[in-house]
Amino acid sequence: MAARKKLYQILENPLVQQVLLDILEDNIEGLDVLSTLIDLGEATDDEISRRLNMKLNTVRKILYKLYDARLVDYNREKEEDINWYTYTWKPTLDKLPWIVKKRAQEMLKKLKEQLAIEEKNMFFYCPRCEIKYIFDEAMDFGFRCPHCGGTLKEYDNSKDIELLKNQIRFIEEELKSSIFHMPSSSLTSKGRKRSRRRVKRTKS
Ligand SMILES: [Zn+2]
Repeated sequence: MAARKKLYQILENPLVQQVLLDILEDNIEGLDVLSTLIDLGEATDDEISRRLNMKLNTVRKILYKLYDARLVDYNREKEEDINWYTYTWKPTLDKLPWIVKKRAQEMLKKLKEQLAIEEKNMFFYCPRCEIKYIFDEAMDFGFRCPHCGGTLKEYDNSKDIELLKNQIRFIEEELKSSIFHMPSSSLTSKGRKRSRRRVKRTKS
């Protein structure tokens, strides 16, 4: 139970949710599938589909995405007599904080590279196509949009810089959360044995 409670705490973290949605390609229903699987401990795609009243095909697509990200695993059993396999799925979330941390660090790296480009360069843009160009590119194009031929205008990128800085700050702040600094074994049932000291219970 303690492990499950900790899992829900992790799933509520905004950075974890952002990374999960990235894995699920913004399909918010995927979070329902994952929490149902945590609730049940293990389940077939059919059980999840019935419980959530979600199309079996949708459930399967979500499970495969989660499987690719190593967040669920399955057992395959052959049904007697008929040539049919049953897949039983279970969550394998002990590495979730680690996966989120790794992805977040990759995101940080990209954002910082982008920020450096934004800060170092002057930009031009085509108001009609809404595409922006670095000064050198714009000059190469003779300050004409290569798509529509319109005149390129000077572009104030201070809002873009601000947005990038906010995203960077958000990720850096969230990465300080304790959930990214605990041993991954504390999420598995085996890991619960490790503590000899009694943990004071807190009402929630
Ligand atoms: Zn254009």
